[in-house]
Amino acid sequence: TPAAAPAFTFAELGLPEAVVAALARNSITVPSPIQEKALPDAIAGKNVLGRAQTGSGKTLAFGLPILQRLSLHTDRPAAKRPRSLVLVPTRELAFQVVDSLQSYATVLGLSVRPAVGGTPFGRQADQLRRGVDVLVATPGRLGDHLRQGTCVLEAVEITALDEADQMADMGFLPEVRDI
Ligand code: AMP
Repeated sequence: TPAAAPAFTFAELGLPEAVVAALARNSITVPSPIQEKALPDAIAGKNVLGRAQTGSGKTLAFGLPILQRLSLHTDRPAAKRPRSLVLVPTRELAFQVVDSLQSYATVLGLSVRPAVGGTPFGRQADQLRRGVDVLVATPGRLGDHLRQGTCVLEAVEITALDEADQMADMGFLPEVRDI
């Protein structure tokens, strides 16, 4: 049977006007099924477990609610204290997530930064010190920042585990659990 037509627009699902306009500029006008299901609950602050294929729009399904909620703050994030954490298994995925969310963060005046291995630690530490809204990190590099004191997680309000099945397998679980 054909998929049902989406019943709601992005605006009706709870996204700010500026984000809806930015989505439209990227030709994203109709919520995908996982977005339609996840956005209202995630925007309401509920815990959400989503399962969908690559290409289904899951990055925006968890990313846009994070941005919406962080946009309610009137002050900047404190030094070294990101307000949201997205944990991903690989540096490539971290860069993809940052890329996917960047334009929507920008229209809300929010920052999205990667913290992954294979790129200079000092530059990441500088960015963290200047204040980051959404930190997209691999567990290994984030662990380094926590041990060095260049990142502190006490202000994190929202956490997303991307590719959660992979994040929960034996290679990652000890570090993910510590974090
Ligand atoms: P993802 O499943 O998160 O890897 O997203 C796959 C691609 O689909 C990305 O390039 C998104 O920009 C795009 N995308 C996400 N949501 C939508 C949507 N509702 N309509 C059209 N394209 C979308």
